Amino acid sequence: MGTWELSAGRPQSLLEVVVLLPASALSRSLDLPAWVLFRRSRPLPPLQDPTMPAPQCASCHKARAALRRPRSGQALCGACFCAAFEAEVLHTVVAGRLLPPGAVVAVGASGGKDSTVLAHVLRELAPRLGISLHLVAVDEGIGGYRDAALAAVRRQAARWELPLTVVAYADLFGGWTMDAVARSTAGSGRSRACCTFCGVLRRRALEEGARLVGATHVVTGHNADDMAETVLMNFLRGDAGRLARGGGLGSPGEGGALPRCRPLQLASQKEVVLYAHFRRLDYFSEECVYAPEAFRGHARDLLKMLEAARPSAVLDLVHSAERLALAPTARPPPPGACSRCGALASRALCQACALLDGLNRGRPRLAIGKGRRGLDEEGPPREPQPSRPPASEPVPDF
Ligand code: SF4
Ligand code: ZN
Repeated sequence: MGTWELSAGRPQSLLEVVVLLPASALSRSLDLPAWVLFRRSRPLPPLQDPTMPAPQCASCHKARAALRRPRSGQALCGACFCAAFEAEVLHTVVAGRLLPPGAVVAVGASGGKDSTVLAHVLRELAPRLGISLHLVAVDEGIGGYRDAALAAVRRQAARWELPLTVVAYADLFGGWTMDAVARSTAGSGRSRACCTFCGVLRRRALEEGARLVGATHVVTGHNADDMAETVLMNFLRGDAGRLARGGGLGSPGEGGALPRCRPLQLASQKEVVLYAHFRRLDYFSEECVYAPEAFRGHARDLLKMLEAARPSAVLDLVHSAERLALAPTARPPPPGACSRCGALASRALCQACALLDGLNRGRPRLAIGKGRRGLDEEGPPREPQPSRPPASEPVPDF
């Protein structure tokens, strides 16, 4: 077999389509049909030479190369690629001083490829870093999706002998689940924003779960593609405040919040998938039922087009956010404390409390993408409505 590289381009010949078919499991993880995922890294050999051997691994010079690294083009065997990937994550953590020795690290575990790879890599590195790990999973209450994903997290915890704690939106947020939020926002003009609501609540839930297990730090599995999509989304929304906060590898824990970091932030999604493949990791790859409505999908499509024209576009966007300088008038006000829960907030209420407040009053509101404007400026003003609890869900109590 020859060597292969990941590619989102259209195949140039029928032969390419044929050789791509075994890659379907990986292509699902990248949200691509199988036939556009893998392509020969060199022009295809003539049909009379179908057994062209793969080159030797450029690192160990013993095994045959199994892939060409998307970033560098280096041909590596699976073992050397995984070792290089782990070394790069170690460098990110050490150089960025993200996780000091003795840290109790809550790993946000969703069962998906990113958090699975993050947990596996950190478990490999934990003895060298002198840290201990605790998986924290969030049950958003999404029927037909989250139960299967949580089952994957439970299998990982059992296999890797890591402690696992599951926190549920319904318990933390007065009975609200994401399904209830989706029902409540249906037809309100906010129904396409489930992921924005969910992102705010999940951040809070993960913080609560981490505190529950005595963690000193929180890590999440965001990769370089996720971060580049976020930068693009913030630009497209004109959200200067989030752009200003979005740089760097995490947040140091302002206002009493636990320090957060993203050790995979410089790893491309393709390499995360390849690492999971070569380490034979068991993860959940179905898409959440609300994901197709998310604005992020447009940023993802745009990013793929940009990457096809300029392969460094993903990392360039991540680094541009780190170096972005905002005019003083565009900077968000210094954060204070939420008057209800004490969490970090740039207004009277933090985003989670404001969002729950709106839901409980039957008036869902979003603060995302509105720069320095107040929460109530989102959408046309409406008369206050009586409290409208979600059907068949416990009545929210705050
Ligand atoms: Fe939440 Fe959206 Fe992710 Fe589903 S896709 S879990 S709604 S953020
Ligand atoms: Zn609050």
